[in-house]
Amino acid sequence: MFKTSVFFASLLSVLPFLSAAAGELRLPAAPASVEVPAASPADMDTIGLVLDYDEVYAALKFYSDIVFVSPQGSPQYLEAAAAGQYLRARLESLGRAIETATGRPFSGATRTRARVSFRISSELGDVFGFHGGTAVRETRSVPIKDGYCKINYVKNNVPFLVQSDSFLKKGEVILTFDDGPGPLTEEVSASMKEGNAPSVFFVLGSKLGAAGRARVAKAAADGHEIAVHGYWHATENGKPFTNMTTGKIVEQLGGVKSSIAAAAGRKPVFFRPPYGIITPDALLALDSELNLVPVGWTIDTLDWSTKNPDELFEKTIALIKQRGKGIVLMHDIHDQSRLASKRLVSWLSDNGYTVVSPERMTKAYRGE
Ligand SMILES: [Zn+2]
Repeated sequence: MFKTSVFFASLLSVLPFLSAAAGELRLPAAPASVEVPAASPADMDTIGLVLDYDEVYAALKFYSDIVFVSPQGSPQYLEAAAAGQYLRARLESLGRAIETATGRPFSGATRTRARVSFRISSELGDVFGFHGGTAVRETRSVPIKDGYCKINYVKNNVPFLVQSDSFLKKGEVILTFDDGPGPLTEEVSASMKEGNAPSVFFVLGSKLGAAGRARVAKAAADGHEIAVHGYWHATENGKPFTNMTTGKIVEQLGGVKSSIAAAAGRKPVFFRPPYGIITPDALLALDSELNLVPVGWTIDTLDWSTKNPDELFEKTIALIKQRGKGIVLMHDIHDQSRLASKRLVSWLSDNGYTVVSPERMTKAYRGE
């Protein structure tokens, strides 16, 4: 009885989706004399996926709102930014699963809820060691390099990389793109080249198959830096590096560094931890053993939180105008980011900003 009512409540909540997709989900070529069940097992699976999608989408909106109103580097900002990055990846895999199940493009959730469900909240607790949606207090801070970066520990001792851009002058910007290479990387790379904007692409080793290697080679040839993000993001199950030993992280990222060097034709010099989560020990070991310079960000475009390229562009230039300079974080795996970044480079040069060489970060970090 309980299950039935839950099912019907669920069904009601996805009616708009079902009415749109019903044509595609109907069993083909059923003889007229055979009664077709109202909901086939495939429909039921799809309903579950859509409900999951809806819930994750609502949580994503919740966290992007927190990120947008919180000061860079504040505990609330760090937690919400990490949660948002994680939920964005979950949302994409759910979207792909729905498309596979229905055989048609899926455009996303049609409604939002105001709060994060208990289920999502405990999932975030399992992944990050914190439970989202509540205020956090910073407990301690470990300097890595004064004036360049530090590690802030927040609730439950989760260590976040906090970047400084005090080495940049007003009007100077560094552009970075994470989580590729992917089908959009080549176009983003070409647009940045055209806009005289040498950028950093923080890539995942798991995406460096034949196609990925070719994309990375092209981006390097366009004059960009190819850098280490992880093999996975950061573990195979989407958990941060705090779930791996320092030895294992160095070993795994050593492999990614070699793959990038082989594909791009030169050794990567930068590293950015997925979600910004990394311990001081691991960060320092990656420097001493792999010679990798840590890179965070100081302008978070929240490109994962909108599908609208115009909205993303407006938000991004507002953030840049407000700060006057900074290390900009985007992802070259989203169509909205491909379009917004193209507009952004023109806007930057038209408005007196300079995209400076990523080498400035190496110099600031090494104290040169
Ligand atoms: Zn990432």
